[in-house]
Amino acid sequence: MKLTDVFQSGKLSLSFEVFPPKTDSSFDSVRAATEEIAKLQPSFMSVTYGAGGGTSRYTLEMAKKIKHECGVPTLAHLTCVSSTKETVRQRIRDMQEAGIENVMALRGDLTPEMMGQDRSQWPYRHAVELIRDIRESGADFCIGGACYPEIHPESANQKEDIRYLKEKVDAGCSFLTTQMFFDNHLLYNFLYKIREAGITVPVIPGVMPITNANQVERAIKLSGSFMPQRFKSLVDKFGSSPAAMKQAGIAYATDQIIDLFANGITNVHVYSMNKPDVAQKIRDNLSDLLGLDV
Ligand code: FAD
Repeated sequence: MKLTDVFQSGKLSLSFEVFPPKTDSSFDSVRAATEEIAKLQPSFMSVTYGAGGGTSRYTLEMAKKIKHECGVPTLAHLTCVSSTKETVRQRIRDMQEAGIENVMALRGDLTPEMMGQDRSQWPYRHAVELIRDIRESGADFCIGGACYPEIHPESANQKEDIRYLKEKVDAGCSFLTTQMFFDNHLLYNFLYKIREAGITVPVIPGVMPITNANQVERAIKLSGSFMPQRFKSLVDKFGSSPAAMKQAGIAYATDQIIDLFANGITNVHVYSMNKPDVAQKIRDNLSDLLGLDV
């Protein structure tokens, strides 16, 4: 099922993100976690893609399992920054053959070595080039793109970031998923600005439940997200107690999602990663809301 059809259902729903196994030995545990999450009946599940090879070889395998064995609509991620045109063409063919209908088209992060290089001759410099290539290949995918309520760390300012985002949507993105954020006002402000800029596709907010104190530093480094004082206080108070921090982090994410639903968002993407217990608790907290017609 194409995700654009999922988003049109008008029901409140959650989707979950998983990452594929990094090694052969972790395949079974990742598969088991994925199956547990699929049982929660999410609107869809996304499978991340390791930019430099690594986890990328399992992305398609996991996406196929979720779609064909678990019966859950799937979004397979694909990055392009370290790929050749031929590799990307092959990945597109592989996804078509596997019956994948939804692709998240990403650039991928630049490594510190890449930052200093002359990028003018690279096959792919930005996600928009991948989106154009997918469209030109004739593959009938529903394409998603990434967006950043707090601007992408490489962008000079939000105006420029939104201008490039519009280019990405015009190239063929049918929906956007946001980077994680911890203050919903940043999302509402961003939505207002992109709608003003003429971006009308569905925007799926991404919420990450922070369930241990170590995750906080990693999450900020990865996303550059602003941590509201309310969240900082929670980490200060409960960070040293793993069980308490987990409960508080799940409650914080639940609260964020309820506010998003109350303000007109219908699908929230939860970065619970390969933690079925976290995904389950958030889903249970929202059990009477999910499936409500809006
Ligand atoms: P782009 O859209 O290319 O944007 C990157 C930067 O370039 C921005 O500053 C943008 O403003 C600028 N830009 C865009 N177009 C142009 C242009 N034409 N000219 C000049 N500047 C331009 N990474 C992974 O490795 N694997 C994953 O599975 C993965 N999943 C993700 C899912 C989501 C929802 C998000 C938000 C991020 C994900 N990432 C993933 C991280 C992502 O790869 C990085 O954030 C990366 O740095 C940017 O990717 P992008 O597709 O947004 O790039």
